[in-house]
Amino acid sequence: MTDTLFTNVWIFDGTGAARFPGEIAVRGERIAAVARGDDRLDRAGLAVVDGHGATLMPGMVEAHAHLTWPSSVERVIDAMKLPPEEHLLVTAQNARITLDHGFTSAYSAGSLGERFEPALRDMIDAGHLAGPRLRASALEKGAEGVMGVPAGHDPTHDRSITGLRAYVAEMKAIGCDTIKFLMSSDEGFAPGGSQVLMYSEEEASAIGAAAREAGIWLACHAQASEAIKRAVRAGFRAIFHCTYADSEALDVLEARRDTLFVAPAPGLLYARCHEAEAFGIGPDEAARMGAISGLELMQSVIPEMRRRGIRVLPGGDYGFPYNPIGRNARDLDLFVRLFGFSPREALAAATGQGGQLMDLPVGEIRAGLFADLLLVAGDPTEDVTLLEDKINLLAIMKGGRFHKPPVQQSL
Ligand SMILES: [Zn+2]
Repeated sequence: MTDTLFTNVWIFDGTGAARFPGEIAVRGERIAAVARGDDRLDRAGLAVVDGHGATLMPGMVEAHAHLTWPSSVERVIDAMKLPPEEHLLVTAQNARITLDHGFTSAYSAGSLGERFEPALRDMIDAGHLAGPRLRASALEKGAEGVMGVPAGHDPTHDRSITGLRAYVAEMKAIGCDTIKFLMSSDEGFAPGGSQVLMYSEEEASAIGAAAREAGIWLACHAQASEAIKRAVRAGFRAIFHCTYADSEALDVLEARRDTLFVAPAPGLLYARCHEAEAFGIGPDEAARMGAISGLELMQSVIPEMRRRGIRVLPGGDYGFPYNPIGRNARDLDLFVRLFGFSPREALAAATGQGGQLMDLPVGEIRAGLFADLLLVAGDPTEDVTLLEDKINLLAIMKGGRFHKPPVQQSL
């Protein structure tokens, strides 16, 4: 592997601090050294990449990834379930597209093939396939047919305490890092669904105990306040959506803010409100699916979470025909425009805090961490929308290797 020195770059280090001019040495798969200002690093044995004043930042983390949701910016697929062989190949393609768009890590929010993601993660880690570092998840667990939960989410549902414990152990055994449960239903499944609880307090706490015993993380779809509270009490680590959180639910989240993460996934609601007409979701349907009111609610709930210091991360349920994989960076702009994050705060949530979510040495630029880096044209700390066009991603490095090598200008 060639070792690399990035020079003449502005460095955004993922902590939320202002970017600074400097250079970075990468040796092997890790960042070896960072220099500020006019300091110069040892160049011996390093291939020099002149950034010409571009921004060097950590690769982004998608906090609510569904690589098995079929549609991408390269390919719209008007179905959620495909024959398994084709589905697995589309999933691998989606992993590559996610990385092409600057996401070097992805935390899964559920997979339609329960063995797909552990296999994909291992193939990516071994260098056989291009894709982000992946925290692999199992099949979403819910109650098929209850309040419109779509078929395919749960073919083998045993809701007994013994059945739930066995399911958790089985997902650990097949190599999942996390399991996704539907703690509540959703307006998108059926009107009123968001307030329907899918697991009792007893069931949730049995799931939590089983997961702690097995050493596997828990994630959940939670809309209703009680669903959020139940999940937090049971020790769930990633809580998705939280659109209908009341002040009590916010208190519970805040009390555990050092051990949990929220990913509200505004991208999907935004797409249903503004970009889905060509796909049969006009204003009336968007309203019926709760997207319009949901997006409005999020605009008061998420700023309040931010104020309380709860870690809220971008990641927007991409993979639907009208919300395709590859558009993921748009979530950062929604954090700025809808939730009042500064561009730098949104970037820090997508990088530094994303690294905390992954629980891997990624998401920041400092010596010792994996060299997962983006070289970006312009200043994304002022304008996060730059990240939405992959033309602006001048180079993408993951683990010290270029996924997208820089085009070296000869001046
Ligand atoms: Zn989702």
